Amino acid sequence: MVAMSRQVLRRALDDYPCSYLVHPDEPICSRACFKLALSCWKGSAKYFLLMYAAQYAIKYKTLTLEDVPSILKSYCRSVLLGIWCPCAITGTICLWKNVTGRFDKEVVCYVAGLVGGCGVYLDNAKRRPIVSYTISALAMEALIRRLYGKINRPFKTETITFMIMNGILMYKMRTTELASFSRDIWFFRPPKIRRSNKIDLNADDRIGGTLNKACPHSGSCRNDIIKGVSKYILGTTIFTATRILILNPKLRRNPIKFLKTLFEWDNMRLTTFFGWYVGAYKMLSCFLCRIGERDRPEYAIAAGFIAGLSYGVNRNITVLGSLILYVARIYGREVQEKYQLPRIHFMELSMIISFAVLINSRVLDHKNCPRGFEFMLKTVTQDRFTALFDQIIRILEEEKRSEQINAT
Ligand SMILES: [Zn+2]
Ligand SMILES: [Zn+2]
Repeated sequence: MVAMSRQVLRRALDDYPCSYLVHPDEPICSRACFKLALSCWKGSAKYFLLMYAAQYAIKYKTLTLEDVPSILKSYCRSVLLGIWCPCAITGTICLWKNVTGRFDKEVVCYVAGLVGGCGVYLDNAKRRPIVSYTISALAMEALIRRLYGKINRPFKTETITFMIMNGILMYKMRTTELASFSRDIWFFRPPKIRRSNKIDLNADDRIGGTLNKACPHSGSCRNDIIKGVSKYILGTTIFTATRILILNPKLRRNPIKFLKTLFEWDNMRLTTFFGWYVGAYKMLSCFLCRIGERDRPEYAIAAGFIAGLSYGVNRNITVLGSLILYVARIYGREVQEKYQLPRIHFMELSMIISFAVLINSRVLDHKNCPRGFEFMLKTVTQDRFTALFDQIIRILEEEKRSEQINAT
């Protein structure tokens, strides 16, 4: 991790004008901001078009013509958000440099990010949760990556954290309504506890059902497990196949090579992860229900814990970060309900802080900056914005190297 003292940063950066560090292609600040805004307008129009298309493609059946104006309005507000975030960062840094004649670490690494994050208020209130969750998951990823310098065996720690968090999440999903808000996204939901645990005389013992039907699902256990697992495996295989074809269009003409690529271990990881996760959860849950002769919410802890072992197959810090955040949100809601705390702008505040964390890690620790965030910055600003950090990062690294040489 690049730990840079305030003096070093100032000494390194103060010699340069902001036109060199912040907007190398345009000497005048206001014009540079205007140019950046134009690029961001085009970039975020494309970026959010894709996002909206994907989001509304899923629920196109419920849409009517009357929804179109509100969707368009919301889209325009999202584009405004995309313009605001990079322009506010550049504007803040330029303004500070012009007023005080200095580049301060606090301004570059914290204040600019916070001001940029405030753009969340431009977006539609209904869309703020999804923006906030995405940005906070990325910020979580950045923090986990930074922590890695201090953990000896990140792989084991990661898997065990995933298992524990998954156990808690499955339990909470079964026991409290606070865990299943419609804006909460997780790829698997455990079945709810059945209200009546009546004896099910229709269950067929020969195909695996018991007379005293304790499981939360209908039908036989075997069918339920096979159905659940095959649904996830099929979905993920289709997703992986589409991704391979997009990344490597030549394979379209060579079906045998395409199938070989599809079944390579690296491409099967995600499928194995989902299959194992869902299969292990369902199997253990059914096993415990049958042994205990009734369904208990606590079984979800054990089943979720074992299902979490699948993380070892497909290590993904973004997924781990989202899981930790999801569990934290549930506990946050519980505390809020219990003590009747006022509903402060939690979504917006978490977006603002997370955005500042991301900008901070982009400048001070760019090697560990989440790739998802880099991609987002690149697409929205049409690659214009990265120039800002590239120069600062380069100068900081040169300065650090010369400090090390001086010290030795
Ligand atoms: Zn400037
Ligand atoms: Zn069962």
